[in-house]
Amino acid sequence: MAEKIDVAVIGAGPAGLAAAIAAREQGAEKVVIIERSERLGGLLPQCIHNGFGLLYFGEDMTGPEYERVFIRRAEKAGVEARLETMVLDITAGREITAASSRHGYTKFKAGAVVLAMGCREKARGALGIPGGRPSGVMTAGTCQRYVNIDGYIPGRRFVILGSGDIGMIMARRLTLEGARVEAVVEIMPWSGGLIRNEVQCLHDFGIPLLLEHTVTFVHGESRISGVTVARVDAERRPVRGTERFIPCDCLLLSAGLIPENELSLKAGVELDPVTGGPVVDENRQTRAPGIFAGGNVVQVHDLVDWVSWEAEAAGRAAARFADKGKLPFAGKIRVSAGENVKYVVPQYISGKEDVTLHLRVARPGRKASLRLGGKAWKRFRSVRPSEMIIEEVPYGKISQLIRDGELRVDCDIGEEA
Ligand SMILES: Cc1cc2nc3c(=O)[nH]c(=O)nc-3n(C[C@H](O)[C@H](O)[C@H](O)COP(=O)(O)OP(=O)(O)OC[C@H]3O[C@@H](n4cnc5c(N)ncnc54)[C@H](O)[C@@H]3O)c2cc1C
Repeated sequence: MAEKIDVAVIGAGPAGLAAAIAAREQGAEKVVIIERSERLGGLLPQCIHNGFGLLYFGEDMTGPEYERVFIRRAEKAGVEARLETMVLDITAGREITAASSRHGYTKFKAGAVVLAMGCREKARGALGIPGGRPSGVMTAGTCQRYVNIDGYIPGRRFVILGSGDIGMIMARRLTLEGARVEAVVEIMPWSGGLIRNEVQCLHDFGIPLLLEHTVTFVHGESRISGVTVARVDAERRPVRGTERFIPCDCLLLSAGLIPENELSLKAGVELDPVTGGPVVDENRQTRAPGIFAGGNVVQVHDLVDWVSWEAEAAGRAAARFADKGKLPFAGKIRVSAGENVKYVVPQYISGKEDVTLHLRVARPGRKASLRLGGKAWKRFRSVRPSEMIIEEVPYGKISQLIRDGELRVDCDIGEEA
């Protein structure tokens, strides 16, 4: 027999915790977080550096400190947790099948579901780097776990492919542990992470950032002995004659994150091909009624604070759905990405409430101006694809920005970066 739950939350990272607490505070009786690992917190325990909670708490916290506050709140709010329980399937009717090390196969029937499965890093297969298959090639997050959780440094001499935030944070961490980081190699003409990480993790430690470069070959038999690095042209193809060998015993990959949405697809949730996450409305309801989503499963956030806020909205709305048995998808107005905008979340809004738009630009630039519905909205000294732009749009202004049922978002660049 399936266990009945009001709100089931899949994943116990910062998104899942925030959604579950918000659902309880909104009045849902039985709120259960289902988490495949043996503890709550998602990726936060391995993020031992500071920079968390600056917006949410106005305090500079580490990942474990941030996590602890939410775990305490969840306990106080009466959220139940099923740990070591991996969700295998969700149906459109919100029936959940999970495998648990303690209880075996388990079935749940949920009034509403919040998807909070986070994201995973692109591994070597997804990047297609030629060369052998030696050991010593791993994602930056795996290395972060080895170093920060297991106390094990997997090499002495590192090259990092991709300048995502996790890779840059690991470049500093490994340097502080006495390892040598030969270079961070980035195929784009700009770094893939926050500017603060580029400055504090690379420049401050004299770690070379090779922009418009890539790894073209992995050398080594049983263990990696080095990589060939080459400059790339405007089409991102390696330029002949620019190759050079960099010796290393570890190659870390920090070249993108993929929202974990295999389960969402099983539930019939529509995905946005650009974000890789579900198409959602302002309540973070997906196109599958009663299935909500928040955090990195929706879009790769750069700050955990926004993960928590987004998931709270999903948790509150899920509790409302579970109570009434329905909550219409707020699909009246389509929010569309225009000139130099890569994506906007939410993709749909009702036009009846204040809304917070999350967006990323497609290319960097200076003297940028954001236009909503074709009208000048805000100016920025500079914009970068790696830094999410968050815009609060008050309800009273939305109607003036809509044309043909659409809110179009553009970002004009005054000067190329
Ligand atoms: C490897 C890695 C390292 C990171 N390091 C940093 C960092 O150092 N600093 C920083 O600011 N940000 C970092 N981030 C970004 C960070 O992930 C986010 O800010 C935040 O953790 C996202 O929260 P979330 O709850 O959406 O996802 P997560 O924290 O990833 O939590 C998702 C949870 O869902 C669970 N789950 C997934 N699928 C299932 C399933 N089928 N059944 C049950 N449970 C499931 C997972 O086990 C996990 O606990 C990192 C991201 C990654 C991928």
